[in-house]
Amino acid sequence: MKNKVAEVIKSLTLKLEPFKRKCWIPVVDNSDGSLVSSKFSGKPFLRQDEAWPLCGICHNPMLLALQLNICELPEKIKTRMGGQGLLQLFYCTDSCGTEDGWEAFSKNQRLRIIMPDKGKNEVIIPNIYEYTDYPPKVVKGWKELDDYPHSEELSALGVFFSEEEERIACLSSCNPEELEAGTEASKKRLENIKQDIQEPGIIINDLKTLQFLTSPKRGDKLWGWPSWSQGIEYSLCPICNKRMSFIFQLNSSGSYLTDIWSDSNLPNLFADGNGHILQCEDHRDQIAFPWAC
Ligand SMILES: [Zn+2]
Ligand SMILES: [Zn+2]
Repeated sequence: MKNKVAEVIKSLTLKLEPFKRKCWIPVVDNSDGSLVSSKFSGKPFLRQDEAWPLCGICHNPMLLALQLNICELPEKIKTRMGGQGLLQLFYCTDSCGTEDGWEAFSKNQRLRIIMPDKGKNEVIIPNIYEYTDYPPKVVKGWKELDDYPHSEELSALGVFFSEEEERIACLSSCNPEELEAGTEASKKRLENIKQDIQEPGIIINDLKTLQFLTSPKRGDKLWGWPSWSQGIEYSLCPICNKRMSFIFQLNSSGSYLTDIWSDSNLPNLFADGNGHILQCEDHRDQIAFPWAC
């Protein structure tokens, strides 16, 4: 008997190949690094004459959620982002972010790209609400992986699945990692799946490959494809009204490998959701950060 699953995996791999992108997962160390390092939390680069950024709603100091030193990024992204500067996202850790704080350009965040010249020699971290929940993590490297678009984006990209592909691809949502646990419950679940789809030959590796092909990486990552929590949400550039491009994903509920919130670099900052830094390709100073959970 022909293995339908293997055939579908082969056809999806071919179909999705033109949309395969690289993404880079930050590899972090539990330290702050320098004022111009790429990092989560910790001390940002600040201009000589500027004070620590305050929340536009509660007026308390915001957390440096992310700083990216553009000239240290993988070449492709570095060029795309103009080759230099620091991208900084400050975000309020107080609950004023829960109303409409998830929207792009909301007042409980500050997102900017600045040139790292004429800065303060010393930066002191002010009294940030619940700062101890966000210990600084410096990015010491990037792990390069392949990434594929979210299923919702495929039709917009002109990719459509056949009925058979759809039927098999749906299986990617059944959490292969959990099925791999080897417990009685997970073995039974795999048997049920095999029966449901009438594919006795399907194995956990097939499910993993299907998941790899049909879901963008979770967790924090640079470039690749956004993993949307609620649906496609690209902001428009306030200058040219064009759809902004995806740059960085911030995830508060886990890493690319796990759904364990303590594995996140910014646990619970965006509830259990995903935030996306977007940038206009023509107006690089136009950047947005919407998040959803
Ligand atoms: Zn606030
Ligand atoms: Zn623009």
